[in-house]
Amino acid sequence: GLEQNGPPPLEGAKKRRIAVMTSGGDAPGMNGAVRAVVRMSIARGCESYAILEGYDGLVQGGDMIREMKWEDVRDWLSKGGTLIGTARCAEFRERPGRLKAAHNLILKGIDAIVICGGDGSLTGADTFRKEWPGLLDELVKTGVCKNEQVEPYRHLNIVGLVGSIDNDMSSTDATIGCYSSLTRICQAVDFIDATAFSHQRAFVIEVMGRHCGWLALMAGVSTGADFIYIPESPPGTDWQDQMCKVIGKHREMGKRKTIVIVAEGAHDTELNKISPSAVKDVLSIRLKLDTRVTTLGHVQRGGAACAYDRMLSTLQGVEAVDAVLTATPDTPSPIISIVENKISRKPLLEAVRLTQEVTDAIEAKDFDKAMGLRDNEFREYHKAFLITTSAEHPDLKLPKEKHMRIGIIHVGAPAGGMNAATRAAVAYCLARGHTPVALHNGFPGLCRHHDDKPLGSVREINWLEAESWASLGGSEIGTNRGLPSEDMPTTAMCLEKYKIDALFIVGGFEAFTALSEMRQARPKYPSLCIPMVVLPATISNNVPGTEYSLGSDTCLNALIDYCDTLKQSASASRRRVFVIETQGGATGYIATIAGLSVGAVAVYTPEEGITLKMIQSDIELLRTQFAKDAGQNRAGKLILRNEKASKTYTTECIADIISTEAKGRFESRFAVPGHVQQGGIPSPMDRVRAVRFGVKSLQHLETFWDTSKQQIRDDPMSAVVIGIRRAQVEFSPMERIEREETDWTNRRPKDEFWLAWKDTGEVWGGGGVGEGGV
Ligand code: ATP
Repeated sequence: GLEQNGPPPLEGAKKRRIAVMTSGGDAPGMNGAVRAVVRMSIARGCESYAILEGYDGLVQGGDMIREMKWEDVRDWLSKGGTLIGTARCAEFRERPGRLKAAHNLILKGIDAIVICGGDGSLTGADTFRKEWPGLLDELVKTGVCKNEQVEPYRHLNIVGLVGSIDNDMSSTDATIGCYSSLTRICQAVDFIDATAFSHQRAFVIEVMGRHCGWLALMAGVSTGADFIYIPESPPGTDWQDQMCKVIGKHREMGKRKTIVIVAEGAHDTELNKISPSAVKDVLSIRLKLDTRVTTLGHVQRGGAACAYDRMLSTLQGVEAVDAVLTATPDTPSPIISIVENKISRKPLLEAVRLTQEVTDAIEAKDFDKAMGLRDNEFREYHKAFLITTSAEHPDLKLPKEKHMRIGIIHVGAPAGGMNAATRAAVAYCLARGHTPVALHNGFPGLCRHHDDKPLGSVREINWLEAESWASLGGSEIGTNRGLPSEDMPTTAMCLEKYKIDALFIVGGFEAFTALSEMRQARPKYPSLCIPMVVLPATISNNVPGTEYSLGSDTCLNALIDYCDTLKQSASASRRRVFVIETQGGATGYIATIAGLSVGAVAVYTPEEGITLKMIQSDIELLRTQFAKDAGQNRAGKLILRNEKASKTYTTECIADIISTEAKGRFESRFAVPGHVQQGGIPSPMDRVRAVRFGVKSLQHLETFWDTSKQQIRDDPMSAVVIGIRRAQVEFSPMERIEREETDWTNRRPKDEFWLAWKDTGEVWGGGGVGEGGV
């Protein structure tokens, strides 16, 4: 954490100067990164500088390298693009340009740079650092600088933040900006979907990505596209036949619309370009489809960052400053990466090399190698896309004896991604020869059905039906909070009666509880001795065994939109602070992460509770802030309060206290977004993860096809939760989680990983990057 990392700078010692720069193509989230670097630098006792217009500013120097104060980055989290500018700079590619840049850094007394950009920018940064000693020598030798002048700057620290919309950098799962861009693409495809359906048309959509198919692939997974073209895994020269076969089949099965997504850099195995217009011609001429081409272009770069990018850029910016301050002269330059849910440092050189290797492998037509060099996640998504898209997979079919009837059930409140997970499960079942059976309306639905009042609530689902669920919010098969313990005998009997061989449970803490109850009831009811997986789906993100639940990202995005709107209103009406009540049950996850993503003044969580002293000190903070706000630089202020943070200090009560105590200097209102937080259309992140986890869950279930009831009872892996834990996706046995990791009273995990983020960033008050800081 920040608290432990190094002592504050010595009194009288020269303060370190850390510069931040954005370079290459702009990406949503770059402003969040700059904000975090600026504030964390200041919070850690350093001086903060911004280099304007990318390497151009570095080469030009002068006013292009400017000191940044705390307030200068206020409200930047919600702004798209990069406010400190970016450029492509030819001069920096040559040594004389880099010599000028070195001189400018010496003149400004800067000894560390955090660069947010794509692989080009980071390659440049790496070259610069390698040349640094030589550049300094040259400055001295040519008399531009005196030796004493350069001596304090012998070690230049460079830290890379990967900011790029196309997610083309190796060593990190996600670049800052890629999920925002994906969000933009999916919105567009969702719009196009509606018109395509209406007219039974086909659309060919071109998305960015010259060497990297991540955007195209993920857009394909999350929108349920019919076909995608990505550079890493190209089709053969007979791609026309392949595509017509798949799409023709989909149309035969009754699909009214066709979506094909083409990455900018798409080609066949012989590297012949596959252009959207060529794809269109094939669809029009051979399949006689009324086909249109849509090129999304720069829309993909635009707009405010999504929740994930705000969080990622903030946490990574904080980590980057930390990396600067802990670096020794021998530390290789790092980039800040994220693997699943873990932020860490990776050697910049290696990341750049691996990235280049992918491009080289593609150019050498070694596509297995190219795919091999992409991360695990990428490969899994690619497999999941192939499995869940196509209606027919002769190669994947299992022999008859391995076929299972797999029950799918939703438990608890609706959450974004539930339908996408179900669609993926259905498609997977059909590809393998299993029978997907929907158990409608949760456990009460299942039991009611048995009462001889058949409501059609236990039903086999066909491909076409589930096919349209990729982007739908809510729960198409119905969800219910009821637990099996309400009627365990009937639950067990129904599972037997409908010959359910395995159970895929999607839902939140109730789903988790349901699995725990059924696992414990196994000795009494043999029909419960079937393999079961819970895929956590709840906006509260409070399921033990995972750090991420489907729906939590959708919720954060809905909440952030809501907060941004209120913040704007608060800033326009001046001197107003909104106290916003978030959902989340007894866990402060969404309040905390939303607070981090919108720059809240304070966040109140159930974990910490609320005391009068906290309210008092936050009012003090507001007072100082409003006093400083006199000029141009004012911004609306928000406080986020989780619904269960305190019985006494309700949201309205806190707003009233603030208004009274402000004594006319400012005022306060409260707002409750309520069920808006469930979100409308699920976010792309929730959709893609639904597909990936759905497929993985089913793969796990089918391994039990010939396991006896007794063996299942004895095998802890037969009742599991699938989830992300730090850097991995894994199955955790319920037997252990229910006993060791669950706080049953508060319905949350005993250890909540994000508490560390709150402490680490000290986001509110004190030494962090939040509005309450310094
Ligand atoms: P994006 O992923 O959006 O394309 P990028 O960072 O890869 O971003 P580039 O245009 O490749 O974008 O690089 C941005 C700038 O970085 C270049 O204009 C140049 O100034 C610098 N740069 C790139 N490659 C090098 C290099 N090999 N040596 C020195 N500088 C470089």
